[in-house]
Amino acid sequence: MTVKEIFESMDYGPAPESAADALAWIVDQGAAFGQFINGTWTEPRQDFQSKNPANGETLADLTQASQDEIDAAVSAARKAQPKWEKLGGHGRAKTLYAIARLLQKHSRLFAVLETLDNGKPIRESRDIDIPLVQRHFYYHAGMAQLMESELPDAQALGVCGQIVPWNFPLLMLAWKVAPALAMGNTVVLKPAEYTSLTALLFADICHQAGVPAGVVNIVTGDGAVGEMITAHPDIDKIAFTGSTDVGRKIRQSTAGSGKALTLELGGKSPYIVFDDADIDSAIEGLVDAIWFNQGQVCCAGSRLLVQEGIADRFYTRLKARMDGLRLGNPLDKCIDVGAVVDPVQLQTITDMVSTNTDGETYHANVDMPVEGCFYPPTLITGLAPSARLMQEEIFGPVLVSTTFRTPAEAVALANNTRYGLAATLWSENINLALDIAPKLVAGVVWVNATNLFDAAAGFGGTRESGFGREGGWEGLAAYTKPKGATKPLKPLAALSGDKGPVDPLDRTPKLYIGGKQTRPDGGYSRAVYGKTGALLGQAPIANRKDVRNAVEAAQAAKGWSGTTGHLRAQILYYIAENLSARAGEFASRLNALTGGRSGAKEVDTAIQRLFTCAAWADKYDGQAHGVPIRGVALAMKEPVGVIGALCPDEAPLLGLVSVMAPAIAMGNRVVLVASDPFPLAATDFYQVLETSDVPAGVVNILTGPHGDLAKPLAGHMDVDALWSFSSTDLAATIERESAGNLKRTWVNNGAARNWSHDDSRAFLQASTEIKNIWIPYGE
Ligand code: NDP
Repeated sequence: MTVKEIFESMDYGPAPESAADALAWIVDQGAAFGQFINGTWTEPRQDFQSKNPANGETLADLTQASQDEIDAAVSAARKAQPKWEKLGGHGRAKTLYAIARLLQKHSRLFAVLETLDNGKPIRESRDIDIPLVQRHFYYHAGMAQLMESELPDAQALGVCGQIVPWNFPLLMLAWKVAPALAMGNTVVLKPAEYTSLTALLFADICHQAGVPAGVVNIVTGDGAVGEMITAHPDIDKIAFTGSTDVGRKIRQSTAGSGKALTLELGGKSPYIVFDDADIDSAIEGLVDAIWFNQGQVCCAGSRLLVQEGIADRFYTRLKARMDGLRLGNPLDKCIDVGAVVDPVQLQTITDMVSTNTDGETYHANVDMPVEGCFYPPTLITGLAPSARLMQEEIFGPVLVSTTFRTPAEAVALANNTRYGLAATLWSENINLALDIAPKLVAGVVWVNATNLFDAAAGFGGTRESGFGREGGWEGLAAYTKPKGATKPLKPLAALSGDKGPVDPLDRTPKLYIGGKQTRPDGGYSRAVYGKTGALLGQAPIANRKDVRNAVEAAQAAKGWSGTTGHLRAQILYYIAENLSARAGEFASRLNALTGGRSGAKEVDTAIQRLFTCAAWADKYDGQAHGVPIRGVALAMKEPVGVIGALCPDEAPLLGLVSVMAPAIAMGNRVVLVASDPFPLAATDFYQVLETSDVPAGVVNILTGPHGDLAKPLAGHMDVDALWSFSSTDLAATIERESAGNLKRTWVNNGAARNWSHDDSRAFLQASTEIKNIWIPYGE
């Protein structure tokens, strides 16, 4: 095309970026890569190839890591970890800063290599992926520097196994490696089989930046290598980004291993356009939401919901915009949509769309490249909310859509998904936007913008989009643990006896469900004896139907999550006041149950704990992140939902209160299973709740064997989180069963906790989920 022709047609001429330097780098490395272990490269083998999806050409030969190589990588990481941690925050900050500088220096090389390997347009890798990677390392250099002063009670987890997908190869690496190294961990990272090259260049950068041998290890291969990492006994934490199916498998396979786990999984994120939206901006936003990276984006705005009154106009303008998109050589700077990562992915997208018979399908009227993995931008309108393509992730440039009439319907449709990663909404009415944003079930909400990311604002999902956050202060929690050694928790058995009842009157307590005292479904109870062998009373034995009823009651008490911190604080103070009025009675009961003498102290500490949580109820607030846009990212702390908890055996009242109070202070509803051997303090306690204005269903109390109740609670799809502080080690059962709805779990792994020590912050953190709401400003 000549300049004259371009001038006359006003078409873009080609503006290709040269691939020469990136290809020369590959050739310099011998066009074949081994594993990067302990600071050196292993001998390469020709096990599989990395190809350019835009033209099918082979870029390099790669090596499938063997079990021996994984063992060597883990052992190098283990050996390097203590010294790396002891280097201190400043020492690590300097290294992370050096990495950031080198990433900046070689940014063009990284961008071109990423585009060659992945097929994404160079404009995206150059202007979005690589700058965000650098930003992540700068930001976390700062976190390393601040660790000692700001997180004095935190220490590194140890060796982290990290597994990333192919859609943002280097960016996902940065999201995982930067916080891990900042907090003093060492890593073994596996890039995706299709896109390993920038991770291998990153290994080279680590070498240049003086990262000590063994601190960063990069191993290549397919899912089998991922499995070797997740199964490795000497890894302390697994950080995984990928599909929900694989995430679920990893949750099951790591259950009971004691490994920490974060899962960043898939999504089917809603993109809501209200009738007062700036339509042109909303359409430009859609280009970024669904055609960015060919739609291969976990948080892609792939489900368009348009208000009915503007739907026809919106679709017409959207189709016109789609026709203007340019597909082609991803290295051309004038290209909007590049190549899909691999022929396998292209086939998946093609099959999903071609087998759909619902709605109306529109493929953009664009010139398609003659070779390579390209798929036209596609819009499917008129789908029912339950249609397969409205529910399942396509992971390609395909937008599905339906309409809504009212804001309430928009929220219902948006939340009608098993995922909860991100959501976008467009409206010129700030009141409407800020009313809707908190109602959307998603870890990130963008108002009048889309796909904004920054290291200072945590990213991550809820529901089947996984758990954990990457970025921000909240992301650090995934790479640290509390300082200090833990002690094993011995299983506590119930006391036995053969004497008669202390009180001849039969006072068999009941379960406490939905604000009512309820007989156990099975109709059974067990005798509870004191140290002297005297019968103290009968405790009901709950079964899975009681669990179901308690969860239903907790779900029905949703209104609690919408109450103010001030109201919740008042109710917690009131519980404390009523407990205090019966302190002597509770102290005697505790002494009788456990045979100890510390009942009075336990009651007093429980009252203090209630005060602490009442104090926090209106103070544990969110933040406004200073993200580099004209706008704010509001980090809102939201309740997790319904939390189940197996309460500690050894502190029958204090333990239950320490678990309940922070959870309800943050607006959660709870299903508590009382101390297994000493349940009667809990059944006395519901009388206190009954007199303290706690709304029905907010606190539900069951008694019975922890071992029997853990499984139905962990498997229940309407329980959002399950904690266990039981003296029976239930970690394996809970973590395995939780994979169904990927609920958050917090288990003690058989380690003791000092309940006299006030650790409310840890509980407040586990009781909340952070939602980042991005609000750009300006006309
Ligand atoms: P996969 O889950 O298939 O793969 C992700 C990574 O896990 C790859 O490195 C893969 O290896 C590896 N892997 C595959 N099987 C196993 C296994 N059994 N055990 C351990 N590791 C395994 O996802 P995709 O690569 O298909 O990526 C797309 C998915 O990732 C989408 O669902 C997307 O939504 C999600 N995603 C989520 C993000 C988030 O932040 N929430 C961000 C980006 C993507 P290999 O590829 O070599 O086979």
